[in-house]
Amino acid sequence: MGTTTVNGTFGLDIGGTLTKIVFYQEENNLKSMLVDFIKTKTEYGSTGKRDKHLSFKFNNGTFHFIVFETRRMHSAIQMILSNSLVKEIGTSVNATGGGSYKFEEEFKNAKGLGIEICKIDEIKSLIKGLNFLLNRVDDEAFEFDDEGKKRFCNFINGDIPNGVRNNLFPYLLVNVGTGVSIVKVENEESFQRISGINFFELITVVQKKLGSGLGGGTFWGLAKLLTQAKSFEEAIELCSLGKESKVDMTVGDIYGGNSYAGLNPDMTASFFAKITSLNLDDDCKNFTDADVCKGKPDLFFVYFNNINLYLGLLHMVTNNIGQISTLLAKEHSIENIFYAGNFLRKNEISQKAFSDGTKFWSGGKTKGIEIINYL
Ligand code: ADP
Repeated sequence: MGTTTVNGTFGLDIGGTLTKIVFYQEENNLKSMLVDFIKTKTEYGSTGKRDKHLSFKFNNGTFHFIVFETRRMHSAIQMILSNSLVKEIGTSVNATGGGSYKFEEEFKNAKGLGIEICKIDEIKSLIKGLNFLLNRVDDEAFEFDDEGKKRFCNFINGDIPNGVRNNLFPYLLVNVGTGVSIVKVENEESFQRISGINFFELITVVQKKLGSGLGGGTFWGLAKLLTQAKSFEEAIELCSLGKESKVDMTVGDIYGGNSYAGLNPDMTASFFAKITSLNLDDDCKNFTDADVCKGKPDLFFVYFNNINLYLGLLHMVTNNIGQISTLLAKEHSIENIFYAGNFLRKNEISQKAFSDGTKFWSGGKTKGIEIINYL
């Protein structure tokens, strides 16, 4: 499905937030500017990164993975031009994702570029890539054991750990990107998008086959708006210091610390609702951003600092997606849910929540398994 160059094959996925490039470099000794360009760096421009730890060898070559922010596409094109990479890339590239439509004209008409984008179906490629990784490459998926340690799940040749055959199909793929796609995969060839109804369109009884409107983009968009986070990675790192109970209203908050009708007092009753009980004008007026950054231990810091907001946001998005997925797995009698997409990139809090939450809410019937490579 990739585009073949002198020294390998590459494919593009131009998503709503991130553009992913996978490059399969064949081990031959042909001189290639493209290979040199990719391999001599791990950072490209202001947002481009090569994830060295995701690379793996396969047959006579190596897979490399590069990511950059889609909003930087224009600069990426300039970089291709200024490094004279067009000659090797050729006159057409295969690409998936919404950006293969959005940037079609720019690729074709940018001065000196003249590249035709050949659109490849996004979900078909995603499933093909996932089946390839799970069937052919070791340690590409993991879950968390009861002690919270990562445990790899291998499906190559139907591995038989502890005497139990790890059957791959059917499985549910929950791809958490800017938005969420939920797909039931029955076998190598057959799959279908499944998900709930979009409530706002019930009148026309249109089944919108979107997973959830709350996705990785919701987390990052709101984090950017409400906090001083400079990058997704920074927001995720800070999450580990926060307490969602500072912003979320729990059952205990409503019932004076008691459980109610079997509901645990620590359960979230309403995301972010605790903020409604604050008098923000009075509580916050004396504090500047600098105070917050310095960690002044005041009301503002305790109740309303970035750290708790980050985690509150992460909690809200992760819970929503995990709950929908587990319910769908139950409805379709599916035992394995694979969670993929860049929302999970370096995001162990959500990885763990998906793994533990899926097990808990399905009564141990369904496993939540994380995918290592972004697809
Ligand atoms: P898409 O194909 O829709 O762009 P991805 O699977 O690439 O989807 O995931 C995009 C999501 O990944 C973002 O909404 C954000 O939650 C998260 N993310 C991870 N790393 C970054 C980053 N460096 N910059 C922006 N978002 C990131």
